[in-house]
Amino acid sequence: MQEFSRLYIGGEWTVPSSDERIEVVNAFSEEVMGRVPAGGAADVDRAVAAARAAFAGWSATPLDERLGALGRIAEGIMARNDELARSVVGEVGTPSMIAPMFQTGLAAVVFGDNATLAPEIEMEATVGGTLTVKEPIGVVGAITPWNFPLVQIAVKVAPALAMGCTVIVKPSEYAPLTAFMLAEIVHEAGVPPGVFNLVSGAGPSAGEALVAHPDVDMVSFTGSTATGRRISAVAASTVKKVTLELGGKSPLIVLDGAPLADAVAAAVQGCYINCGQMCTASTRLLVPETQRDEAAAAATAIAESLAVGDPAAPDTVVGPLVNARQRDRVREYIQSGIDEGATLVTGGVEPPDGLERGYFIRPTVFADVTMDMRIAREEIFGPVLSILTYTDTDDAVRIANDTDYGLAAMVFGEPDEAMAVARRLRAGWLVVNGADQSFTAPYGGYKQSGLGKELGVAGLEEYLEQKAIHV
Ligand code: NAD
Repeated sequence: MQEFSRLYIGGEWTVPSSDERIEVVNAFSEEVMGRVPAGGAADVDRAVAAARAAFAGWSATPLDERLGALGRIAEGIMARNDELARSVVGEVGTPSMIAPMFQTGLAAVVFGDNATLAPEIEMEATVGGTLTVKEPIGVVGAITPWNFPLVQIAVKVAPALAMGCTVIVKPSEYAPLTAFMLAEIVHEAGVPPGVFNLVSGAGPSAGEALVAHPDVDMVSFTGSTATGRRISAVAASTVKKVTLELGGKSPLIVLDGAPLADAVAAAVQGCYINCGQMCTASTRLLVPETQRDEAAAAATAIAESLAVGDPAAPDTVVGPLVNARQRDRVREYIQSGIDEGATLVTGGVEPPDGLERGYFIRPTVFADVTMDMRIAREEIFGPVLSILTYTDTDDAVRIANDTDYGLAAMVFGEPDEAMAVARRLRAGWLVVNGADQSFTAPYGGYKQSGLGKELGVAGLEEYLEQKAIHV
């Protein structure tokens, strides 16, 4: 049992304003594995005051000292990587095969990358006779989801601290445990009091209090598009900057002549990783009409071969979903696909054999999906792959772009042709022929997938204001 009864505010573990607690449930055993405070507006007020008080000193701290702290945080994460990963395996259900790398080790990489990139930013320049000066934006509220709980905090806290901002983190109530461990790591790293603060709590209470707070200069949010809309509306009352990393419905286009087996394998892997609870999941597989049967057979063969089960077991590829609410939502989407006339080729609403306990969903593949179906338009956030067919390349691009989202897209094909298609897609993160992805490139969605960028130099610059001094 991981119990945290205090909130990290102003460099100390402080008593929360109420005794209310949030229970963290293990996705596999369905048992309570931890408890954290259900913080509220009074706790947010204290955290914002601490962050405001620390801002003058931290923003004036030399860059290399701030980046030194980032380096120590990265080391601290790696020193506790196994323990952090175990937490995420429990609270999210991510298989232990990938958790130490993609869930927690990646957070250390993000702190390191931000420390490396920050000196590249030109903080002052002369334009005509005018001096332009970039400055930290101020106090930042960071609100994060449960699917990659530590990484999502890292991609906000690392650039904010590097640029001289102070932060209040409000982690997801479903997977808050690694945020508490990160606060311990930040403390050990010698980050001055008030620079990093942690208030756990529910979205509508602690989260919204942070967004509405007049002394918060910027909100960096990652989560669902529905919550992003609400956050934008609440933030508007105090005209603060908001960056949003939201949902997706990402296509993977297999161009005519591309190696179908490789492309389908990439689609299935990209759709089922973290049990489909990934914003960039490749959930719409677009294949030429003539390859519908072959694609469906290949996807089915892979889906049925994957080891589904206890995420702590070393060979598990697909674990449970995070909680009962999410499982029921995904089941409802699978039923809607059946009701709307898609062909269920494997998977379905029943739990996998022998896995009645734990929030499991069978790896599911639908064929004959069309863009008027909910499973093609809405983010499911579970292991459900939809296969759609197209007539020619223009049709493929049209279908791929026919979505309110624009987070990511993947293309397989002859390199020049695939590149040309990638340029035509209205999305922020493109992967051609399964290329390795760089976490120092700017990341962020088009359309209703978000506003602003994370990662890379662009991600750091989100935490800056710019003034012009005419002399
Ligand atoms: P969510 O929107 O339900 O919650 C995210 C966070 O917002 C949580 O901390 C929650 O407590 C808080 N919140 C909820 N209501 C709030 C309110 N009214 N005011 C302030 N804060 C509030 O999202 P989730 O279910 O935790 O995460 C899944 C979603 O996140 C998916 O849609 C996924 O696509 C998205 N996501 C996007 C990215 C990206 O980079 N684009 C990355 C990961 C996840």
